[in-house]
Amino acid sequence: MSKVLIVGAGGVGGVVAHKCAQVPEVFSEIVLASRTLSRCEKIQKQIARPIEIAQVDADNVPEMVALINKVKPDLVLNVALPYQDLPIMDACLETGVDYLDTANYEPPDEAKFEYKWQWAYQDRFKKRGIMALLGCGFDPGVTNIFCAHAQKNHFDEIHSVDILDCNAGSHGHPFATNFNPEINIREITQRGKYWENGEWKEIDPMSISMDFDFPECGVKRAYLLYHEELESLVQHIKGLKRIRFWMTFGQEYLTHLRVLQNVGMTRIDPVMFEGREIVPIKFLKALLPDPASLAENYTGKTCIGNLIEGVKDGKLKKLFIYNVCDHAECYKEIKAQAISYTTGVPAMIGAMMMLTGKWRGKGVFNVEEFDPTPFMEKLNIHGLPWIEKHL
Ligand code: NDP
Repeated sequence: MSKVLIVGAGGVGGVVAHKCAQVPEVFSEIVLASRTLSRCEKIQKQIARPIEIAQVDADNVPEMVALINKVKPDLVLNVALPYQDLPIMDACLETGVDYLDTANYEPPDEAKFEYKWQWAYQDRFKKRGIMALLGCGFDPGVTNIFCAHAQKNHFDEIHSVDILDCNAGSHGHPFATNFNPEINIREITQRGKYWENGEWKEIDPMSISMDFDFPECGVKRAYLLYHEELESLVQHIKGLKRIRFWMTFGQEYLTHLRVLQNVGMTRIDPVMFEGREIVPIKFLKALLPDPASLAENYTGKTCIGNLIEGVKDGKLKKLFIYNVCDHAECYKEIKAQAISYTTGVPAMIGAMMMLTGKWRGKGVFNVEEFDPTPFMEKLNIHGLPWIEKHL
């Protein structure tokens, strides 16, 4: 029996609230807080169980501390934006409450996400006797846990990992992003990077691609991107020689993105407009569809998985572990689209692991540092069944 404080009432926050509400034996009390109270109210009305709501600006540490002191949660589950990671971790330190998130910190004025800012909290969390679980969505999150599961059950040594993320769905808009537009476009437009033979290799954005036959989605072109789980997996997976991350994009999406970039609409630095400063990418976000609003008419599926090669008992071995998620099924269940769903379900399960004592520790952790088995079992129960194909 625990009380969870969810921060951020966007597409992912809605899924987390719904999924926590389905497990009353763990999440006996739920509070959903966000910057705009009406977003919390909308989600509150969809959920049959009573949940509490609150307004908070999570960038403001004293405001977060006051909310935590009032609510007295056992865990703060952060599904606001990466900019809020550090202020929320500061508030957790001050109040002595555990923390979980799904995306690593990035500074607003530089499109660069790295774990160094959050890993720097290690000693302070340890000393305070509390736990932070970082990156517990799908990717990062389940993709890290797939690696830990493969390491535990299938390989003596893992040599290469390719994380493959495909959205073969259709939302009917000429251009929209499936999670927060600002964060999504910052991620895609930065230089690509992968790890090979002990060093990071940088490439121009979207300059390497390959076709891959995704189960239930078909052959799609995937582009090599830098993604945050690569940084922690390089530290935690034994014998790793290469790790890369790939994401599929349709031609329509890429054409829109190129035009937006060329005209300066994806810039993250302020520009003067009619006597006041605006940040073009923030203005663009205001024009684009809200990710949660895509859910109603979304059709098609996502397939996200890890292609893993390595050695078992002296023999070379290749394995693809993946999940397929159907947009329309997610909408039917909890009024969400599959990208929010595949992020929110693992966040709920991560919280469950912490609150039931299956995953415990003092300090700051990435998900692959814990036993993957209880988490993998819960994925099958809570809407994200996984499949293993030995190739
Ligand atoms: P949305 O933009 O839909 O939602 C973000 C929510 O956070 C909004 O409701 C927003 O409030 C709220 N928020 C923003 N700033 C603050 C603040 N200062 N204080 C309180 N609330 C705030 O994004 P998503 O739900 O799509 O994504 C949420 C998170 O999930 C992101 O960090 C994203 O990077 C991560 N993610 C992780 C994935 C993974 O697999 N690991 C995949 C997809 C997303 P308002 O309504 O006022 O704008």
